[in-house]
Amino acid sequence: MTGSGGATEADPAAGPAAEPVLVRVDLDRCIGSGMCALSAPGSLALGPEGQALAVAGYADGGAELTDGLAEAVEFCPVEALTLHSARGGHRIAPPD
Ligand code: SF4
Repeated sequence: MTGSGGATEADPAAGPAAEPVLVRVDLDRCIGSGMCALSAPGSLALGPEGQALAVAGYADGGAELTDGLAEAVEFCPVEALTLHSARGGHRIAPPD
């Protein structure tokens, strides 16, 4: 009996990987650079007004938190993007 007994725990560095998220775009900030749509094409697109639009909303159950989506939020040049839980609505990133 090896008896290691340790349950596999989620890697805290991985964040809430399985949690679907909502992306919110602050249209007063978005300058339409399009960087986010390139980083996370499944989650963000440029709309007809030339600003970012979230592809998925509450009715769609949110979007998968991919590396590309996390990078899009992190690297938006005007900090126009925020990630929120699709279940609870609380803010996930960036930190306040
Ligand atoms: S990266 Fe930021 S400024 Fe550029 S389109 Fe996306 S939300 Fe708008």
